[in-house]
Amino acid sequence: MQELTHYINGQHVKGTSGRFSDVFNPATGEVQAKCPLASVEEMNTAVAAAQAAQPAWAATNPQRRARVMMEFVRLLNRDMDKLAEALSREHGKTFPDAKGDIQRGLEVVEYCIGAPQMLKGEYTDGAGPGIDIYSMRQPLGVTAGITPFNFPAMIPMWMFAPALACGNAFILKPSERDPSVPLMLAELMEEAGLPKGILQVVNGDKVAVDAILDHEVIQSIGFVGSTPIAQYIYGRGCSNGKRVQCFGGAKNHMIIMPDADMDQAADALVGAGYGAAGERCMAISVAVPVGDETADRLIEKLVPRIEKLKVGPYTAGNDVDYGPVVTAEAKARILGLVETGIAQGAKLVVDGRDFKLQGYEDGFFVGAHLFDHVTPDMDIYRQEIFGPVLSTVRAGSYEEALKLAMDHEYGNGTAIFTRDGDAARDFAARVNIGMVGINVPIPVPLAYHTFGGWKKSGFGDLNQHGPDSFKFYTRTKTVTARWPSGIKEGGEFNFKPMD
Ligand code: NAD
Repeated sequence: MQELTHYINGQHVKGTSGRFSDVFNPATGEVQAKCPLASVEEMNTAVAAAQAAQPAWAATNPQRRARVMMEFVRLLNRDMDKLAEALSREHGKTFPDAKGDIQRGLEVVEYCIGAPQMLKGEYTDGAGPGIDIYSMRQPLGVTAGITPFNFPAMIPMWMFAPALACGNAFILKPSERDPSVPLMLAELMEEAGLPKGILQVVNGDKVAVDAILDHEVIQSIGFVGSTPIAQYIYGRGCSNGKRVQCFGGAKNHMIIMPDADMDQAADALVGAGYGAAGERCMAISVAVPVGDETADRLIEKLVPRIEKLKVGPYTAGNDVDYGPVVTAEAKARILGLVETGIAQGAKLVVDGRDFKLQGYEDGFFVGAHLFDHVTPDMDIYRQEIFGPVLSTVRAGSYEEALKLAMDHEYGNGTAIFTRDGDAARDFAARVNIGMVGINVPIPVPLAYHTFGGWKKSGFGDLNQHGPDSFKFYTRTKTVTARWPSGIKEGGEFNFKPMD
């Protein structure tokens, strides 16, 4: 049995707490590795190494730091297949989807190559007689991030790339379910030229997280995961005086107007609802057709598409639409919610409960499910299912559909499918949700914009990546300088170098 490590101060180190968690191959159900769960002492060792290494990294000019990022991009492309294979093996997502996970992180690294431009600061020449004012963006020091299982490459890179580009040290506590890719990324950063101790990976569970929350040296915490944990980390981190941003769960609605291209809407829903087995925070989990006639047309288009979905292991390459969910517990929870949906009166139009894959009977595969006639009081509507289950809530009017999305406690993403520009503009302007798609089902912004949800999907003032990330990982210092007039020297005729 493979025993995974931590990556502390430039070395793979074995766990010393004696506590481990199982890392599964979700396609076969087998335990393939043991992940060490750090003690407070192990976290303290990493923080001490980060604290010792960070000042020299902060003093390295931003262009040189950017060159490390540039080289890291080259190495990510070089090792893309190896990383994607390790990712699929632990997470279960298809091989092309694993590459997408890495690619969307890589794009944020590319954006961070612009650090010298982003960190330039502000300057007012002559704010008063002989007075200039300038603002600098300085790194925070030691920063940390806690990441979820569903994007084990992308989300760590969304955090550590801007943190490092700004001159911070970063400690990553990845999900204990799929920790191998984060360890590989830390190694690659050092191969790219990052000094030891600047990016470390400490594996663990609540013990490691609490050690981060309470360590006085750690200045900021980024978190992505479920909402109850996001709220806990935001509360405790803020009360300990840290800068904290937390991104939580989601229930993303897609509104389908009567004038939408129904084939396009159905294709979009199938990809956005069932891709990655529904284990995406930007997955569409609620379809809201406006009017019964629209709903009937939509369901008619959806059913054959869903029944044709190919579910299988990542080893089948491009021949699979989605893979298994992450654990047996996740599978049991999803199937439990399907039963609750039926019991509470929703109509199960596509039933995936009996899905079995020959040769992979112990894998965590879940068949695709489609519910119709779901109502807002049902558990399958209120809770994030995080599985291949799409719920249809029929709305009587556009206003009713809009209100539905607005009244839901989550506010990560949403989409509207229509040919009517006025409806689309109205929706984008009024909806209280952080990321909006217009005829785009999964509106994940690109690296140079920012990513973040509203309501119970996001806590904190600043979003991930884009310009916000440079604000989150730096603090502003403003200098007001007065230089009284002195005696000016006479003429100087030689070209002198600056001292
Ligand atoms: P999770 O909340 O179970 O775990 C996230 C992280 O928190 C992990 O590193 C885990 O070790 C740690 N953790 C778990 N329990 C803890 C506890 N009691 N105390 C302290 N730390 C704890 O989430 P997950 O199952 O890994 O990921 C799925 C969730 O993440 C979904 O809800 C999904 O919507 C959300 N998510 C949100 C976004 C976003 O940007 N909003 C992106 C991806 C995933």
